[in-house]
Amino acid sequence: MGKSFDIGLERLTGAGAWPGSETERRIEAGRFDTDAGRETFYLETFGCQMNEHDSEKVAGVLLARGYKQVETPEAAKVILYNTCSIREKAAQKVFSRLGELRPSEGEPSAAKSREVDARLNARKVVNAGGGKIIGVLGCVAQQEGEEIFERAPWVSLVCGSASYRKLPQLIAELEAGNRRVTGLDTDTDETFETEITRRDNPFRAYLTIIEGCDKACSYCVVPFTRGPERSRASASILQEVRQLADMGYTEIQLLGQTVNSYADSSARKMRFSDLLVATAEISGIRRVRFTTSHPRDFGKDIVEAIEAYPAICEHVHLPVQSGSAAVLRAMARTYTRDEYLEKVAWMKSAKRAISITTDIIVGFPGESDADFQETLSLMDSVQYDGAFCFKYSPRPNTPSLAMNDIISEDEKSRRLAILLEHQREIQRSRNEKLVGQVAEVLVDGKSKRANQWSGHTSSNRVMNFSSHAENILGDYVQVKVTGATPNSLIGEAVTGPVASP
Ligand code: SF4
Repeated sequence: MGKSFDIGLERLTGAGAWPGSETERRIEAGRFDTDAGRETFYLETFGCQMNEHDSEKVAGVLLARGYKQVETPEAAKVILYNTCSIREKAAQKVFSRLGELRPSEGEPSAAKSREVDARLNARKVVNAGGGKIIGVLGCVAQQEGEEIFERAPWVSLVCGSASYRKLPQLIAELEAGNRRVTGLDTDTDETFETEITRRDNPFRAYLTIIEGCDKACSYCVVPFTRGPERSRASASILQEVRQLADMGYTEIQLLGQTVNSYADSSARKMRFSDLLVATAEISGIRRVRFTTSHPRDFGKDIVEAIEAYPAICEHVHLPVQSGSAAVLRAMARTYTRDEYLEKVAWMKSAKRAISITTDIIVGFPGESDADFQETLSLMDSVQYDGAFCFKYSPRPNTPSLAMNDIISEDEKSRRLAILLEHQREIQRSRNEKLVGQVAEVLVDGKSKRANQWSGHTSSNRVMNFSSHAENILGDYVQVKVTGATPNSLIGEAVTGPVASP
C-alpha cells in the first residue's frame, strides 16, 4: 500500500532546503497553506531499498511544489507507481495495479479527456473519475518504456529514476494538453541532486551514493533499467550527512546497487572505505550502514574500517547468488566461490563480530543438483545471519534468457524450500548463541503491548524487548538478550550500568 505521509515538514530535507533558500521559503509557505486548491498525489512503491529512497525523492519534489500526498488512489489527482522489475512477479504486480485503474466503459481516460479538452481549447485536465494522471516510475518504466502506453492506454506518464527531477515539468506538460510524456534518460547523474527529499524513516536516513551498475550479471535487468554506474561527489555526500546530523538523524545508510564500487566523481578520489570513515566521523552520527556490496569490489580496507570505527555497523550484505563455481560463471558474477570465501574469512577473523547476510538464486538455467548442494555447503561454511532466497526468474534483455537447460518451476520450488529451511536452522542456532549478551539497540518501534519495544542492533538484527521507560523511540538502549527465534532476538532493557565488552 502507499506509504504513510503523516510526517512533519521538518523532515523534508535536501541540498536546497536550507535556511533562506527558495525551497525553504516554499516549504514554509506550504506549512501554513490550507489544502484548498492543492493538487494531490498518491505514490506506491515496489521493490528494493533504492526504490523506497527514490520514492522519498519523488515525494519531496512534488511536496516542494505544493502537491499534497494522499493515502488512496481514489483521493488523488496524480497516481504514481514506483516499480520494480527485478523479478517477473514484481513487474506483473504493477500491471495488475494498473488494471485496477482501467477506466470503465464510457468513462474518459486522462488521455481521452485531454484530447477533448484540447479540442475545446481548454487548458485544464478533467480531474474527476477517469480524468486522473496515472504514471509509472522506476525500473518497469525504464524497461518497458513507451510500450506501457500500449498495454495500459490510460497511463499518461512513464519516467525512469534518473529523470525524477523533471516530474513536475512532465505533469505540467500533461496538464497543458500533452497526451503522453516520458522521462527515460539513464546516463545522467541528476538523480542525486533532487532539490528536496521527503524522509519517511525518522530514525534512519538513506543516501544514494552510486547509481546504476557496470557489472553484467547474466540474469539482471538493472544495467538496462538504471544505466551505467555514476557516483556522487564525496563532498556533496558528506555535506548532506552533516545536514542530516544537524536535523537529528544519528543513523545513515549509504545506498547503491553496488555500493562498494563507489568511485568518487570529484578530484578528492575518496575510496569507499574512506567515505565510510568520513561519514562515521561526522559529529552526531552514531551508525553508518551500507548496502548492497558486490563481492568483486569488496576489499579488506572495508573490514579494517569496520574494525576501527564502532560507528560503522558490524553488518555486511554480500550477495553470493550461488555456491557453485560453474553457476557463478554462467551468471557472470566475476568472482569464484573461493574468492568469495576468502572475503568471508576476512570478516570472520575481524576484531568485531561482523554479521553477514546474502542473496541466493536457485534454479538458474543449468543448475544441477550437485550445483545446488554446493550452495547448501557454502551456506554451512559461511553461516549467514540472514539470506534473501529467490527462484530464478527470466527477465527481458538479459543474456540468461537465451540459456538452455531450464529448471522446472516445481524443481525450483523444491530447492527453494530446502534452502529456506536450511537457512532458518542456521539463523536459529546463531541467534541462540547470543542469549545472555548485551547489545545496543536503536529503538524504532513500539508494540501495542504495554512496555514492549523493538529496534535494530548494529548487526541489523531485530530486537523485541521490554522496557518500562516512557518514550524511548529514537534512543539507543542497552538490551540483554533473553531469547531468540530464527528472525529476531528477544530481550529486556538493562537499567544499570553496562560492563564494557
Ligand atoms: S551487480 Fe549484477 S545483480 Fe547486482 S545490479 Fe549489477 S548486474 Fe545486477
